[in-house]
Amino acid sequence: MLHPSPARRRILLLADDEPVNLLFMESIFREEYEVLTAASGEAALALAEQRRPDLIILDVLMPGISGYEVCKRLKANPATSAIPVIFVTALESEEDEEEGLNLGAIDYLTKPLRAGILRARVRNILTMVRQREILEEMVLLDSLTEIPNRRALDQTLNQEWARCQRIHQPISLAMVDIDHFKAFNDTYGHGAGDLALRQVAQTLAEAAKRPGDLAARYGGEEFVLLLPHTPMRGARKLCRQARFRVEKLAIPHTGSPFGVLTISIGGVTAWPHHEGSVDDLLRQADAQLYRAKQAGRNCVVWQEASPAAKTE
Ligand code: GH3
Ligand code: MG
Ligand code: MG
Repeated sequence: MLHPSPARRRILLLADDEPVNLLFMESIFREEYEVLTAASGEAALALAEQRRPDLIILDVLMPGISGYEVCKRLKANPATSAIPVIFVTALESEEDEEEGLNLGAIDYLTKPLRAGILRARVRNILTMVRQREILEEMVLLDSLTEIPNRRALDQTLNQEWARCQRIHQPISLAMVDIDHFKAFNDTYGHGAGDLALRQVAQTLAEAAKRPGDLAARYGGEEFVLLLPHTPMRGARKLCRQARFRVEKLAIPHTGSPFGVLTISIGGVTAWPHHEGSVDDLLRQADAQLYRAKQAGRNCVVWQEASPAAKTE
């Protein structure tokens, strides 16, 4: 888990009202990156929100919303505020440059543009983006949901597992997955999906609040509840409450047979004599989650101990 996830192909958004400029920049970047183009400020804002590019190159002078205004709005929207912006412009006074940089742009280039310079600047900035991502992965909180991330879970799980074995206590672990979440994103948009993820995360965190409990984002729309010193009865009860609370959030979901956003939970409880590993525990919880999905979703399925290592 210490290795950062591989870098994906980066997305650049180019906004310029001059088609010839767009063509020029596109030709520079299209081999290395996925390139999106916008011929106006309005189109740039819409694309930025929809596609979440890794970097935006903005012409300052455009009819309608100017590049400066686009930048202001990008920075005011939490969904796009972290995306670096480079201004390119024919304006070349120092005040203009200062204004652009004050709006939060990371760089400011004046036309005529030189392909080599543009390419190098973009590459440098994307290196920084990558470094920031790696740092975010290294810290223990998931940036979207603000609950512990998978790395935090790995650490805690190993510690708690060892401790529960030492003090002869059971340990319960549940895998949680949002039901029909792809359809949710498709219907309500990625932004609404992100918001729902945050609400579910907070609800899980509130449900698992005893000292030692941990609600973590495992990845995507999956979470893990780690409940040390908790036998099956208590763990299952807590998970049923968590499932109920998410349903009671009443987040509309027309693409689900339940009409609202719901979760499925698969859990396992291991006793100290259990000989499997932490990974084995996660795998078993995942298998129970699969059963919960098969059983119709919006339910909790639990299994005591591990068949593989069961000794009684
Ligand atoms: P199931 O009930 O079987 O779990 O169906 P599902 O649609 O939830 O499962 P699937 O694995 O097909 O889709 C998961 C979806 O979760 C796909 C992806 O778009 C969405 N997702 C994963 N991570 C995020 C995220 O960070 N934000 C948003 N908005 N959506 C995400
Ligand atoms: Mg799902
Ligand atoms: Mg899933």
